[in-house]
Amino acid sequence: MHHNLQEVEEGKLMYFDKMKRVPSPLIGDHNCSVNNEKSINPRPRARSTSMKKTKNKTFESYEIDGIRPRTSSLPTKNNYRRPLIKNLRTNYEDQDHDLYRLRTFEMTSKGIVNRGDSIKSRSTNSIVSSEGDGNTLSIGSSSCSQNSLANSEGSLQRPKPYKIVILGALGVGKSTIVQQFLTSEYRFDISIDSQQEKMVSVLLDAEESTMEFIDLESELCDHEEGAFDCYVVVYSIDDRNTFDRGVDILYNLRHEKHINYAMILVGNKSDLVRTRIIQPEEAKPVAVQYDCKFIETSTVLNINIDELLVGILKQIRLKHKQEGRERLCGAEVGCINKSKTLLTKIFGKNTLSKSCDNLYVL
Ligand code: GDP
Ligand code: MG
Repeated sequence: MHHNLQEVEEGKLMYFDKMKRVPSPLIGDHNCSVNNEKSINPRPRARSTSMKKTKNKTFESYEIDGIRPRTSSLPTKNNYRRPLIKNLRTNYEDQDHDLYRLRTFEMTSKGIVNRGDSIKSRSTNSIVSSEGDGNTLSIGSSSCSQNSLANSEGSLQRPKPYKIVILGALGVGKSTIVQQFLTSEYRFDISIDSQQEKMVSVLLDAEESTMEFIDLESELCDHEEGAFDCYVVVYSIDDRNTFDRGVDILYNLRHEKHINYAMILVGNKSDLVRTRIIQPEEAKPVAVQYDCKFIETSTVLNINIDELLVGILKQIRLKHKQEGRERLCGAEVGCINKSKTLLTKIFGKNTLSKSCDNLYVL
């Protein structure tokens, strides 16, 4: 069953609140005010000592006014306007593969905080433009740990991306979720180009990672088994058939294909409260049974989309770390498994059954 925006009756307030994710109209306003200056104040401008537009603009090619000119001093906070990413998008995504978008998140006691997106240059590893909640991003200090290598010319090669496959019945919102992962701008109902590269770079815990999403309508082929770092299985909370399909996929992955990688069960369209059929209480035990994490999302209201993106990355990193540790502990018996067995003996099974709705722990 397909649902569009008109069908969403609940949570409109939240919708507008979440719309704050649309880039603030700072630059747009600025441009407006520049254009409207004459009509608002038709009198000739008196000589003033205030600073005029600099001739030596940086980023001239983007034709964005208000960029801080080159100086030897450090900038004071907010003394220049940053170019809007949407102005750069055509430049960097289509023509210049040296530039890429970096999404930045921070884990706080209150949850995930989206620190905005920035455009980075691969060759210099420097920030070209940033846009977010006004917090400065110290991109230079970020470590590109995910297999990023300097080539002979000294420029950074594109890090090998983590591969994430999104599975689930048709119409549950897989493509919409992936589309929203790519940017902090609100993207719901923007037409989805299936050919488009679905890669996103994320800076989390001072570590940069690139994630590639594979949105599969069909079954996993045999040669694709084990080819992914994380498996995301999506169903729609208003459609039992899609939930059943999700459970079948989990069964197939864990018990038939014996895939041991990170898995997340996602109940999408949580905005459809009136037509909800699958309660979280029904989905959580399934997630626990298949050793998965569980989260409900809504792309319409932008609920838990950032949390899911960060959760996927966290799960991948944690699994990789665990694998590394197990390898270090020796092939005969993994020390983690050993201590798990011991804890199970002491405290019983339930103590160890992890909370499936915390995506930031294993
Ligand atoms: P896919 O077949 O799984 O890739 O699903 P799509 O991403 O193409 O989405 C199918 C339909 O569900 C589209 O009409 C979307 O607009 C809609 N949709 C996606 N996510 C949500 C959501 O969170 N809530 C609601 N109400 N509709 C959604
Ligand atoms: Mg699709």
